[in-house]
Amino acid sequence: MTMSTKPVRVRYAPSPTGDFHVGGARTALFNYLFARHHGGKFILRIEDTDQKRYNPEAVNWLLNGLRYLGLDWDEGPEIGGDYGPYVQTERLSIYRHYCQQLLDQGLAYRCFATPEELEEMRRERKPKGLPTYDRRYRDYDPDQALARADGGESHVIRIKLPLEGSITVYDAIRGDITFQNEKLEDVVIVKSDGIPTYHMANVIDDHLMNISHIMRGDEWVSSMPLHIHLYNALGWEPPIMAHLPVILNPTGRGKMSKRESRAPDGRVLPVFVRTFEELGYLSDAMVNYMALVGWSYDDKTEIMDREELIDRFSLDRVNASPASWNYEKLDYFNGVYLRTLTPLALTELVMPYLEKAGIKADKATMMQIAPLIQERLNVLSDVSNWVDFFFVDELPPYNLNLLVPKKMSLADMPPILIAARDTLAQTNFNHDAIDAALRQSVETLGIKAGQMFQPIRIAICGKLVAPPLFNTLEILGRETVLKRLDQAISRLEQN
Ligand code: GLU
Repeated sequence: MTMSTKPVRVRYAPSPTGDFHVGGARTALFNYLFARHHGGKFILRIEDTDQKRYNPEAVNWLLNGLRYLGLDWDEGPEIGGDYGPYVQTERLSIYRHYCQQLLDQGLAYRCFATPEELEEMRRERKPKGLPTYDRRYRDYDPDQALARADGGESHVIRIKLPLEGSITVYDAIRGDITFQNEKLEDVVIVKSDGIPTYHMANVIDDHLMNISHIMRGDEWVSSMPLHIHLYNALGWEPPIMAHLPVILNPTGRGKMSKRESRAPDGRVLPVFVRTFEELGYLSDAMVNYMALVGWSYDDKTEIMDREELIDRFSLDRVNASPASWNYEKLDYFNGVYLRTLTPLALTELVMPYLEKAGIKADKATMMQIAPLIQERLNVLSDVSNWVDFFFVDELPPYNLNLLVPKKMSLADMPPILIAARDTLAQTNFNHDAIDAALRQSVETLGIKAGQMFQPIRIAICGKLVAPPLFNTLEILGRETVLKRLDQAISRLEQN
């Protein structure tokens, strides 16, 4: 029962309290894919009723992040729509109306418990496993309550929930879940500042915005009975609900971190959408990877473009069990998408990263290099490690021992590098001629190819992991290559 007869209208309803985490982005993505699959609407609603935790930057992070991921919303901030406004603090008068209705019907009540009283209740009741609030104003005379409220006394409004029996709610991913009513608390639906709580505003908006399906994080499962009771109290039919599996850390232990950290090798482990963007993950790769965090198509197909994801997405294949975030897999996906780019497109993408790394790269040379690194690059911001040596006059000093292949010694290096130098001084400077000439030289010396190629690579790149050698030599050009070989030879001699 995952489809209703209503037109599909789904929403992503973040609270702007902090940075835009990939967990939230995954929720947004599933809603987006579901909407597009069914030709429905994807709505963005800002749930900012918690003014204490409001972070003014958060909305920008969010909107920019959604744009980077290409999750364009059909209704919401900046574009409006027929069901606006889409920011909850702009809807306060709407909420007031329904809260008054619940009060008038005796389905909600004013509560004047002080913070001290609540603290006492908590101390008393928590150890017994009871909900904090002891319902002490539930049967208080409403007229008296109104008089106190009119007199300016601070109070909240609470929902009156059933005291006994149970409620069974249906989740499209988990099936039926039963909750005992006695365990539920008469929670606050309007705070003392007159602003509704998340629960109240969320239920009212989902109804008024004609939301057909709610897809949200699994931390909201425990709120389902409360929400269903609220729908019932308001006389409304609830949307279909689906709670998405939690995302775990790469180790599979514990929820995915809310904060960024560094791996033992110093690499950033991003969790915020804007950090993934900054590091150079492509939008399509992110979308493809994230779609598979908690959903699968057929247990084997992994690389799917946006259209394929939209075409194939269904709630039936969302997994109820938690999924781990896997950075290596994301890198692999990003690599796959990077390899589909033309050299020009790749060049244009990497130029800003080079500039940021302080590398003075010219576009024409980078265009020549692009095909060489395209097979190897996984994350755009790694580009400088691959290409920096192309764009410096002097290589930074490297450890001479790197020159030495296995089973050889430093003393073996000068004759090999001198032979390489002499060969490269004479040959035509293109890939095939360099290849043939160096192999000839290897043969003459009676050594293995690697025993010459490794010292050349180090002498001209300063590192072992570098683009393919002959192309690299060709792009660097004879002058630079000979200069670097000479430098290596003289360093060896002085050693
Ligand atoms: N504002 C809530 C959040 O940020 C929305 C939960 C929901 O989708 O109902 O998690």
